[in-house]
Amino acid sequence: MTSFKTDLFIDGAFVPSASGRRFATVNPATGETIAEVAEAGTDDLDRAVAAARRAIDGGPWAAMKPRQRGRILQCAAELLVGAAEEFGRVETLDNGKPIFESAKIDMPAAAECLSYFGEYADKLYGDTFPARPDAMLMTVREPIGVVGAITPWNFPLLQAMWKIAPALALGNAVVLKPASVTPLTALMFAELLAEAGLPPGAFHVVPGPGPVVGKAMAEHPGIDKISFTGETETGKSILRAAAGTVKRVSMELGGKSPNVVFADADLDAAAKGAINAIFYGKGELCSAGSRLLVEASIHDALLEKVAERAKKMAPGDPLDPKTRLGSLVSEKQRQNVARYVESGKKEGARLVAGGNPVSIGGKGAFFEATVFDGVTPQMTIAREEIFGPVLATLTFQNEAEAVAIGNSTIYGLAAAVWSKDIKKALRTARALKAGTVWVNAYNYYDPGLPFGGYKESGFGRERGHYALEEYTQVKSIWIDLT
Ligand code: NAD
Repeated sequence: MTSFKTDLFIDGAFVPSASGRRFATVNPATGETIAEVAEAGTDDLDRAVAAARRAIDGGPWAAMKPRQRGRILQCAAELLVGAAEEFGRVETLDNGKPIFESAKIDMPAAAECLSYFGEYADKLYGDTFPARPDAMLMTVREPIGVVGAITPWNFPLLQAMWKIAPALALGNAVVLKPASVTPLTALMFAELLAEAGLPPGAFHVVPGPGPVVGKAMAEHPGIDKISFTGETETGKSILRAAAGTVKRVSMELGGKSPNVVFADADLDAAAKGAINAIFYGKGELCSAGSRLLVEASIHDALLEKVAERAKKMAPGDPLDPKTRLGSLVSEKQRQNVARYVESGKKEGARLVAGGNPVSIGGKGAFFEATVFDGVTPQMTIAREEIFGPVLATLTFQNEAEAVAIGNSTIYGLAAAVWSKDIKKALRTARALKAGTVWVNAYNYYDPGLPFGGYKESGFGRERGHYALEEYTQVKSIWIDLT
């Protein structure tokens, strides 16, 4: 029986909120309340920020050798590997995603991210410049200070880890505000970090409403940087709120990623890839391949394969290890998805698979794996992020048209190209305006490969050595030798 952590985590301890208010977090697959979680307000945030500042301004966190910081993250990684089933179960209860994904993919990936950045802790070198005989010039990289991490509900712990791991490895303190619908694994992780030896003050978790706590974080003079993942519109409001204190910000925002299949592709591999691209994570994925762009001559052959696979993807109990399509995160999200499906039908797209809400045992926010054909770039379902298991299929005549359609949205997060012609694949990969392009693959990640957006999908990069830039600042030092 899981005992959930439901209080705020501030300065090394679980504490109730100052207001005493709590909010319910619900299992979307059953509609049942899992736990009542303490709701942070701005006074709780102030306490967390004050403790974080103490930690980096002369506290034990600041005094620690970087290598020791790295060891703590390695230890946390090992603990998380050992607890992957338990963390995965809670993630599945809170989010509705299949336990196969949360326990076997998300948690091991989160642990790998911790371990990857743990290795960087003492390997951040500065430069020296042989510029002048009368002085020695050098640079050092220093932590930014207090990092405010604001995260979404689709990969609750993994998405947070992309921020927490590099920020802590490089000596920052972190105040994390998880999405209100999925706060539980972040709170569990706070306890795990303490067990790994993280001193009080270095990490805090303050679940609460985005427009209150998130906004206050963006405005807070004690927070030096905001690292945000979420919707593009929320990102814009955070940018405005952060301007008052000239905070550093990085933004991982929405997407409407094109998955381009040329006529010379391996059609079975491309069909499998297209299914994985849109239905992994129930399509609640920033990088979801939500637009399938198919060359006209293979349209019928590919679509038949895709529709056949989609029809076999029945939603199932997220706790069943065989399930590959879980429950959407909430009833509200299911209604959003249903509205988009209606708009697709109304605007003339042809439904070839799914399209309906489903319940299991009379419960849950499940939705069928849905495929539209005959979509044009002007339709709402081709332009807007649906964030659900809905694929829009568009047809193109040649490479130039594929690129033009691919680049025709405000987003630029990810894309893929399927072709056996390496030159054509690479030309297309270059021409697509996206932060990540897969070739003959989709949805593969590695902690060493940076991830982030072009255009309105955001700026800044998470993971890889690029993330080190996001959590450090450069100091130039001039040493007079005369
Ligand atoms: P959201 O923008 O609604 O919420 C994200 C976080 O911001 C939550 O913690 C929320 O409480 C907080 N928030 C809400 N209003 C706020 C405000 N006014 N000020 C400060 N914080 C506020 O996004 P979501 O619905 O949780 O997540 C889905 C979105 O996230 C999708 O658009 C998806 O594409 C995007 N996403 C992007 C990436 C990426 O890496 N680019 C990854 C995952 C999700």
